[in-house]
Amino acid sequence: MSDMVYLNGAFMPLDEARIPVLDRGFIFGDGVYEVVPAYSRRPFRMAEHLVRLQHSLDGIRLANPHTDAEWTTLMHDLITKNGGEDQSIYLQVTRGVAKRDHAFPKDMKQTVFMMSSPLTTPPQTQIDNGVSAITASDFRWLKCDVKSVSLLGNCLLRQMAADVGAVETILFRDGKLTEASASNVFVVKDGVLLAPPKNNLVLPGITYDVVLEIAHAREFEVEVREISEAETRNADEIWVTSSTKEVLAITTLDDKPVGDGAPGMLFKRMHTLYQEFKRDVMRKPA
Ligand code: PMP
Repeated sequence: MSDMVYLNGAFMPLDEARIPVLDRGFIFGDGVYEVVPAYSRRPFRMAEHLVRLQHSLDGIRLANPHTDAEWTTLMHDLITKNGGEDQSIYLQVTRGVAKRDHAFPKDMKQTVFMMSSPLTTPPQTQIDNGVSAITASDFRWLKCDVKSVSLLGNCLLRQMAADVGAVETILFRDGKLTEASASNVFVVKDGVLLAPPKNNLVLPGITYDVVLEIAHAREFEVEVREISEAETRNADEIWVTSSTKEVLAITTLDDKPVGDGAPGMLFKRMHTLYQEFKRDVMRKPA
C-alpha cells in the first residue's frame, strides 16, 4: 500500500490516520465506498464512479460531503502524493462519530477517508487460462445496488471461494444469477452475450457498463435479462468483471469445465477490446 492517505480534510501517512472507535462505520458498517482505478495517474470513469457514489449515499440517506469538483481534486491530489503510475483509489464515507444508537444522530459530520494502493490486475496466466469459481446461494440483503461498507455477506461468500483455492463465488437468488462476491458476471451461450439486469440485487458495476458499451459498439449479440442457474451452469463461457479484475474468464465452475474448459472466443475478443478501450481513454487529453 502506498503511504499517503486522506482523512477528514488532511493528507497524512497511513500509519498516522486514526478514527474514533465510535465511528458508525466501525460500529454499524454505516457507510459507503468506491474503488476507482487510475491508469497512468488518471482516474478511469471518474464521473460514473461519482454518480454511483451519490446513488449509494442516497440509498443510505447520507448527504454527500463533497461536490464532484471537490472529489475530483481530492482524488488527483491523492494520486499525486502517492507513487506509481497505476493506482487503485479507495474512498469511504461514513455517518461519522456518535453515541451508539441505531437511529441516525441529529448532528453528525461524515467521516471521509481515501487511500491508494498499487493497482494489480490479473496476471497473464489467469488471462490465458481462466480461473475457477464456485457457486453459492446469495444470502445478502436486498440493497446490493448500494456500495455499502457492510460487506460481511460478501466477505463470507468470497472466503468460501478462498477456502477451496477458487477466485470467485458466483451467486444465485431464487434460481437466478445475480453477481459474484466482488464482481459482476456475464454468460455466453450460442454466441450471445447475456448479462443480468441492473436492479437492487446487484452492484451496478462500472466495468459491467464498459463491457456492455464495447459489446454494443462492436455489434456483439447482447441480451440483458434474467439468467437462470441452469443457463449459467450450461454456459459456453462465463466472465467476471470488476475494476481490478477487468474481464476474466471463469473456466471451471464447481469443479466442472465451463464450455471446453478454456477461455472462449468472445472472451478473447472482449479482453483485447477492453485493453484497447482503456488505452484510448488514457490517450485523450485530461
Ligand atoms: N459486484 C460486487 C459485489 C463488487 O464488489 C464489485 C466491485 N468490486 C463489482 C460488482 C464490480 O464493480 P466495478 O466494475 O465497479 O468494480
